[in-house]
Amino acid sequence: MPKYTYRCVGCEREWQVNFSLEEAKQNPWLPCKCKTSVANRVPQSFSVREKKKETPKQVGDITESFIEEAREELDQQKKEASSKEYKV
Ligand SMILES: [Zn+2]
Repeated sequence: MPKYTYRCVGCEREWQVNFSLEEAKQNPWLPCKCKTSVANRVPQSFSVREKKKETPKQVGDITESFIEEAREELDQQKKEASSKEYKV
């Protein structure tokens, strides 16, 4: 069972709970022992301090997506043109 960290917004107490994925979904927050605030579930990516380095996009990828977009635009223009013809 995955561990989930909850942190109280009032007293900043942190503790971990063993929840199934379903239980965690049903409990985005838990009542804290201080009874004045609630504890929010801390997203797991936050507890992992290590930041992944973003790999820069390859030039080839950019060119490819650009061509793809241009092609879609062309298709759209063709469709618009043909729909206009139909109306007339
Ligand atoms: Zn608290």
